[in-house]
Amino acid sequence: MERPGKYATLISVTGIKQIWSALESDRETMAETLKLMAVLAHPDDESLGSGGVLAKYAAEGIETFLVTATRGERGWFGDERENPGLEALGQIREAELQAAAEVLGIRSVNFLDYIDGELDQAHPAEVVAKIVGYLRHVKPDVVVTFGPDGSYGHPDHIAIAQFTTAAIVEAASPDSLYYRELALHSVAKLYYMAPSADLLDVYQFVFGDLVMHIDGVERRGVGWPDWQITTQIDTWAYWQKSNTKHSGGVKRFIAPSVSSMADGRLRAICSRD
Ligand SMILES: [Zn+2]
Repeated sequence: MERPGKYATLISVTGIKQIWSALESDRETMAETLKLMAVLAHPDDESLGSGGVLAKYAAEGIETFLVTATRGERGWFGDERENPGLEALGQIREAELQAAAEVLGIRSVNFLDYIDGELDQAHPAEVVAKIVGYLRHVKPDVVVTFGPDGSYGHPDHIAIAQFTTAAIVEAASPDSLYYRELALHSVAKLYYMAPSADLLDVYQFVFGDLVMHIDGVERRGVGWPDWQITTQIDTWAYWQKSNTKHSGGVKRFIAPSVSSMADGRLRAICSRD
């Protein structure tokens, strides 16, 4: 039987699909450790969107790196009178992200130091330059970021997808003006997270309506059709692991806690696969 959350779904943006299987087969023969970098917008994106992928590859000996654009300073869902404010909430969420990263086996976490909700208004060249710096410094083989839909239209998610895509081109370009003191770097593969309609149903079931109101327009996730999804990664074992470790800690930020909350619904989805 297929299990809930068994697959992380991604779309390959560069080159042929099935890089992950290539990655698996190359692992034995390559002298250097392979590196995977996720470039995301907020604390919790690493867990909800790609936690299974990060945990799986870290557990298999691939070095994983995370670059997060903001500290999630506006992610307060409690009573507004108790909101600790941008700086204090950013510190809380940074600590939660660090704890999540430890569980996921992420080797290093870095921030681009933008404010939650303002990334799409940042100067594009400045953001791209920062990401180029990380790409050229870390030299990842594979990069994962949001898709151009931002999963459900979140402007920060869309912005980081655009900036990361641009940075990957810049990092490989001898004509780039950014970080010229660092050697050029070409990533082997760029992947966008591509939530299926089924996965968005689960999110909706667990978190309620994922809707953004931007410039008077309502945005929701629409889900990537199966024919657009190039790559599915079995991450079930790592959902289990994270679920256990996070039960008393930073559960708010770990996707695996979703599995028990949405169990009935998830089973129904599984039977369709
Ligand atoms: Zn986010």
